[in-house]
Amino acid sequence: MVQDALSQSENPYQIAQQQFDIVAERLNLDPGIRQILRKPKRELTVNFPVRMDDGSVRSFTGYRVHHNVNRGPAKGGIRYHPDVTIDEVRALSMWMTWKCAVVNIPFGGAKGGVICDPKQMSQSELERLTRRYTTEISIFIGPESDIPAPDVNTNARTMAWIMDTYSMHKGYSVPAVVTGKPIAIGGSEGRAEATGRGCMYTVLESLRHLGMEVKQTATAVQGFGNVGSVSAFLLHQQGSRIVALSGSRGGIYNPKGLDPHKVMRYKEETGTVLGFPEAEVVTNEELLTLPCDILVPAALENQITARNADKVRAKIVAEGANGPTTPEADEILYQKGIFLIPDVLANAGGVTVSYFEWVQDLQNLFWDVDEINRRLERIMVRSFQEVLKTAEEQTVDMRTAAYTLAVKRVAEATTTRGLYP
Ligand code: GLU
Repeated sequence: MVQDALSQSENPYQIAQQQFDIVAERLNLDPGIRQILRKPKRELTVNFPVRMDDGSVRSFTGYRVHHNVNRGPAKGGIRYHPDVTIDEVRALSMWMTWKCAVVNIPFGGAKGGVICDPKQMSQSELERLTRRYTTEISIFIGPESDIPAPDVNTNARTMAWIMDTYSMHKGYSVPAVVTGKPIAIGGSEGRAEATGRGCMYTVLESLRHLGMEVKQTATAVQGFGNVGSVSAFLLHQQGSRIVALSGSRGGIYNPKGLDPHKVMRYKEETGTVLGFPEAEVVTNEELLTLPCDILVPAALENQITARNADKVRAKIVAEGANGPTTPEADEILYQKGIFLIPDVLANAGGVTVSYFEWVQDLQNLFWDVDEINRRLERIMVRSFQEVLKTAEEQTVDMRTAAYTLAVKRVAEATTTRGLYP
């Protein structure tokens, strides 16, 4: 994706700023605070060499951006993808600030990314890339300053390499420097499925609000990574019919319903969901406009746009991904009466259990999975109800309501701390 070729409305950073401006205007936010919150606080670009398996050396570019740290240490994932840009990472860091504020956990917002194609790299190349990138950004990260986590194409194993590299430099183990780690080295029960689980809780709350019965719903999920797959498993378990699923190369559709566990086994064997028996092949674009009640975009940004929003047939859109809907599409969905659960709420379960993981690491005291899930449910339900109440009181869509709560909280922290020096 060439950055210059992106239309204004598809540059994620401009979108994030546009979303913020709408709410800053509504809140009549102080111009000084507005200037502070519109931009990331600090940005680090690193170019670094990695030795490839064939002996050659390749230079990679990575970023780590802190949007805001007024409510606590910077928090946010690291993604590996060929389309990573500084503007994407800026937007994602800003969304993390709002997300942590919506669920009211004491973190600011950060994000990292490395431009690479992990699907074309071996495990040892990815390990060397991760360890070198960790070293390059080590001036930013730490349990009190900035705590990375998994995002697109990174996982618990990636976090283990980060934890180990950082700890080697320190000379002692520092588990609280990352979340989403394997349980064996201080990871939390329930973290791997937390984003999908949180998404499921917000869908159940939405159904209750709309007077719908989960057992009578059909669900389509775009993306079959960590967020999409777990959302599909859990909604399936709740009794929703999963009619469509997709991976990066395309999707499958069966109006009678798919068993997401069978689809996962098929994907593990063949590398793709395509070709799954008794299902029709659909593109990722087509999946978004299939007849269904619940649509979960859980892949990348800019999927529901002015071009296709009018054709979305779901009653609920739950944003498992960050930034899947553009502002123009938001307006169209709202006019159509579609109930959208914004990313900063729908996918906040991940960072919420990251918070639990960090707290457990700092205390060296670990909770069981029931405790984690109970606490997660409580935070997700409470946050959903707070956002819904704001949306109803102010007659705005759920994204504007979530931003209103979040921006107020961050602005309050900023003014309470005061200006230095
Ligand atoms: N990458 C996830 C997100 O976008 C999780 C971040 C975290 O746990 O820090 O919310």
